[in-house]
Amino acid sequence: MHTLAPVVVSSDELPPSVRTNAPSVLFVDQSGQLGGAEFSLMPLAATWGARREVLLLSDGPFRARLESLGVPVSLACEASVSGIRKDSLRLSWLAALPGIVRQVRTIAQHAKSFDVLFLNTQKALVFGALGKPLHRKRIVWYLHDVMSSEHFGPLQRLVVRWLTRYAVDHVVANSRASAESLITLAHCAPEDVPVVHNGIDLEAFSRADTSDMATLRRQFGLPENVYLAGLFGRLASWKGQHIALEALARMPDLHLVLVGSAMFGEEAYEKALHEQAARLGVSDRLIFAGFRDDMPAWMKAVDVVLHTSTEPEPFGRVIVEGMAAGRPVIASAAGGVPEIVNHGCNGWLVEPGNPAALAEAIETVRRAPDLARDVACRARDDAAQRFSVDTYLNRMTSAIAGCAARARARKA
Ligand code: UDP
Repeated sequence: MHTLAPVVVSSDELPPSVRTNAPSVLFVDQSGQLGGAEFSLMPLAATWGARREVLLLSDGPFRARLESLGVPVSLACEASVSGIRKDSLRLSWLAALPGIVRQVRTIAQHAKSFDVLFLNTQKALVFGALGKPLHRKRIVWYLHDVMSSEHFGPLQRLVVRWLTRYAVDHVVANSRASAESLITLAHCAPEDVPVVHNGIDLEAFSRADTSDMATLRRQFGLPENVYLAGLFGRLASWKGQHIALEALARMPDLHLVLVGSAMFGEEAYEKALHEQAARLGVSDRLIFAGFRDDMPAWMKAVDVVLHTSTEPEPFGRVIVEGMAAGRPVIASAAGGVPEIVNHGCNGWLVEPGNPAALAEAIETVRRAPDLARDVACRARDDAAQRFSVDTYLNRMTSAIAGCAARARARKA
């Protein structure tokens, strides 16, 4: 059996030797859209100290973002493969088989001229790892998912288990919750799945000038002089926007803005949210802002940041961002969230999928502005201490460099 080699991950500054001897890396990501996994890849690819390239399996705004950071990008798009959803069944995989074979080959072909293959998403993992006999490169997989049956179908889980055991050299998980789900699924040793939390660009949050809340809200077309909650992230049923709408219906004075768009075939859910709002009679207190680039300013424009995922959130960048924005955060207590939020200390945790509990927590925060300010201040300090981009980059860099060093040692 292929045993995963443990990665030594340290938060200390990397020694110069690691920086100068950085291996060349091909980063692979399945999405052209901007989700948490893609935001976390950006600073890593942009600052990588050796030759690197990002290979995207779909085109979209992520490509332009990478290019604007000076990162070389290439595309390997297959429409039949992009259509496969993570919880899909055997048949859709079979129908896409020729496309899958082409993508496995393309990734392998690209990988040949790099030292390390860094796989950043599920499809990237499957296609990159299946091609290992062709490229024979060390594989680092950054796991951004809780590998539970709520999130993934049985076939996908089986394939991931097999690839983790026999093809992947090093796994790094984005939270303890993601790591534990893989340890359970693939029966690997806990020390083989180190955790590297995402880093957030905290400076972007301190740069955003929000001294004048009224001007800010006017600029964004948000209602002034009301208590405004914000929910940030793509519109998807498991992100639980419908739970926030139900809480809104319970609180007649509350206004809510949803920032984010339907990205991965979730347009029906977006439509259902509009219908639900009309049915609950809350449409006049609800704003659909769509996808926005300037998250720091948007977050600072609200009184409280909500996170409402109904299934375990693997990490939840938006939670750390809300903390960095200095806003009180109320989040669903599942998955990686309790690794970020300490209830009553730097935020509030509520039971997932429970609108009454969510409404009660919003009311608590609204009624106690001094407490909310203290908690938000502590949260901002916590975000700065625990989730900086520098810490994240140092840990990821040492994970990748360690992987390549072991490969060199094996050859010698
Ligand atoms: N995001 C954004 N604009 C939007 C909605 C979301 O830039 O309109 C960003 C958000 O700031 C965060 C990321 O998308 O950095 C979402 O990451 P998260 O880990 O919360 O969720 P995921 O997409 O990984 O499920």
